[in-house]
Amino acid sequence: MPSPTVDSWLDQEDSRLAPGALRNRDSRGRRHPEPAHEFRTSFQRDRERIVYSSSFRRMTGKTQVLVASVNDHHRTRLTHTLEVAQIARTVARRLQLNEDLTEAIALAHDIGHPPFGHAGEQALDECLREFGGFNHNLYGLRRVDELEERYPGFPGLNLTFELREAFVRHSGILNGPDGDEFREMGGPPLEAQVVDVVDSIAYDTHDIDDALGLGFVTFDELHEIEFWRRAAETVRGIYPGLSGPSFRGAVLRELLAWQVTDLLTETARRIVAQRIASAEDVRRSELPLVGFGTEMLAWKQGLERFLRERVYRHHRVLQMTASGKRILKALFDEYTRTPELLPEKHLRRWAGAAHLAGTAPYPRLPGRTLVETLPRVVGDYLAGMTDRFAQREYRRLFQPSVDL
Ligand code: MG
Repeated sequence: MPSPTVDSWLDQEDSRLAPGALRNRDSRGRRHPEPAHEFRTSFQRDRERIVYSSSFRRMTGKTQVLVASVNDHHRTRLTHTLEVAQIARTVARRLQLNEDLTEAIALAHDIGHPPFGHAGEQALDECLREFGGFNHNLYGLRRVDELEERYPGFPGLNLTFELREAFVRHSGILNGPDGDEFREMGGPPLEAQVVDVVDSIAYDTHDIDDALGLGFVTFDELHEIEFWRRAAETVRGIYPGLSGPSFRGAVLRELLAWQVTDLLTETARRIVAQRIASAEDVRRSELPLVGFGTEMLAWKQGLERFLRERVYRHHRVLQMTASGKRILKALFDEYTRTPELLPEKHLRRWAGAAHLAGTAPYPRLPGRTLVETLPRVVGDYLAGMTDRFAQREYRRLFQPSVDL
């Protein structure tokens, strides 16, 4: 058998993918040009670089809704990400979109999240208010463009334009200066739209699962939600008398399957209705092409209202996040007041480190040009931490003890 070359795979893409899919051959390439790989495509390499990155591994210890150390069963950023990636691949495969690109965007979509979930993001945004604020998508882009250190030839992961674009689009700041590079492109590719929508399928479903698992809500309370009620009735129609964990699992599978089926049907309908015949048509389309029908949207809104009121604002969740916020703010104040406490690797990125050392500036890291203000350096350091590491640093700095 002949060894598969990258060209034979690119030919296959041309014959196999839908007209509106984004092919590797259509990629706008990397910031630092690299030779093509012998048998791996560009988007495949993007996906693999993300999996090898330290930001990806750290998602194991980062809050999705519940602080990562609460127990070993609920979702963390990483397991949420894996669920998004597998659902997104199913959708991409059915719609004949580029699976590698879809999966790469899905695996990267949350790598910019700081510890302690949205509360952590709020805390950093408040700390950095006078210095441009904090946004997890823009931080994700900085991680992959500058902060990851793995390759000798360039800073960051040197991902393709399409992967980098997904961060900026997600942040809603396409009109700001950070969006300059991406604005002229028109709308996002179908693959990025899929990940965006599938994110909500994943969290709407798994947050109910986790809330049940932790006893924050009961089956009876969930009966208030029309979407849950309908799924529960379908399950009871097939398995009368089912209860406990198998009932919970069966209803959740039903909720998930309905959302995916509805998404596939509605998206296929829009692609035909808008006569999408190329990836360029997708860019030009003013309305989102990937989305749910109106009935499913209403069901999901009802479910999300319930999640907001009963789960995201549950007193135990609020206690955890308030405490996480306090930890980040205290660390931020302490490091900006006493920068010598920062590990040297981070201190080097601060333009003022020269004065601090009193002699020559700290040597720049090879190939790196990023020199920043102290608050930004501290913000980047804190945003990269896991929940556990931030808690440990807090104890180290504020609990009287002289352990190393
Ligand atoms: Mg997500």
